[in-house]
Amino acid sequence: MSSPDSPLFLTFHGDTRDLLSKPPTRDMTIAYPLSRRASIKDILEGLGVPHTEVGRIVLDGVEQTFEKIPKSGEHFEIHPLSPALPPTMATILRPEPLAACIFLVDINVGRLAGLLRMAGSDAEAVSQGAADNAPVTRAVREGRILLTRNRDLLKQRLLVFGHLVRSQDPDRQLAEIVNLYRLQDHPFSRCIACNGLLTEVEKENIVDRLLPLTKKYYHRFKQCTGCGKIYWQGSHHKKMTDKLDGILRR
Ligand SMILES: [Zn+2]
Repeated sequence: MSSPDSPLFLTFHGDTRDLLSKPPTRDMTIAYPLSRRASIKDILEGLGVPHTEVGRIVLDGVEQTFEKIPKSGEHFEIHPLSPALPPTMATILRPEPLAACIFLVDINVGRLAGLLRMAGSDAEAVSQGAADNAPVTRAVREGRILLTRNRDLLKQRLLVFGHLVRSQDPDRQLAEIVNLYRLQDHPFSRCIACNGLLTEVEKENIVDRLLPLTKKYYHRFKQCTGCGKIYWQGSHHKKMTDKLDGILRR
């Protein structure tokens, strides 16, 4: 039987330690007084670590699920998400993988949506005024990874794939996401405004929508299949690729 006198030990690896509401002062292990029957998920979230941030839970060399009920004296190793555990791979914690790394970007990291699209990733944005739980249900329904700075959303049991965006700066947020999910960038393949796919379009079909100088100097165009916005490989394109180079390969 567990009692408040016989704690549970939890060792936090990588950046899971930074998520603890009260980080241990010296090492990465905390003794947790086990006073009630609770799943490891509930224990971790009570300490400040949303389940979406955990990549592996290991007890005596064996990987555990979130439903595991710890016993006093046991020692768990808590590992973070990592590029080696992509959402497209089945794991003990998440046995049903995603088909692809596609995203739902919360309002609190709104500018990240445009930057991900600039890099060619499929990134839908949470609509303004959406109900509290709407981002979670939408992410699950559409098979997307929820990117947010709201820990409470990430603690919801229904959500499988999500990430607490650590940086406050949008450029660094993009680098964080590209590195974590090992995204390949394909600039100029998605509409920055609406996330629609861009396709090549003949100049003669859109020439009446171009400004005189654009009409004169540019010959290759792409158009958004969603909103119809026209893109051309002019100074705008160069600015975008330079910006991506600066963020992703600095
Ligand atoms: Zn568009």
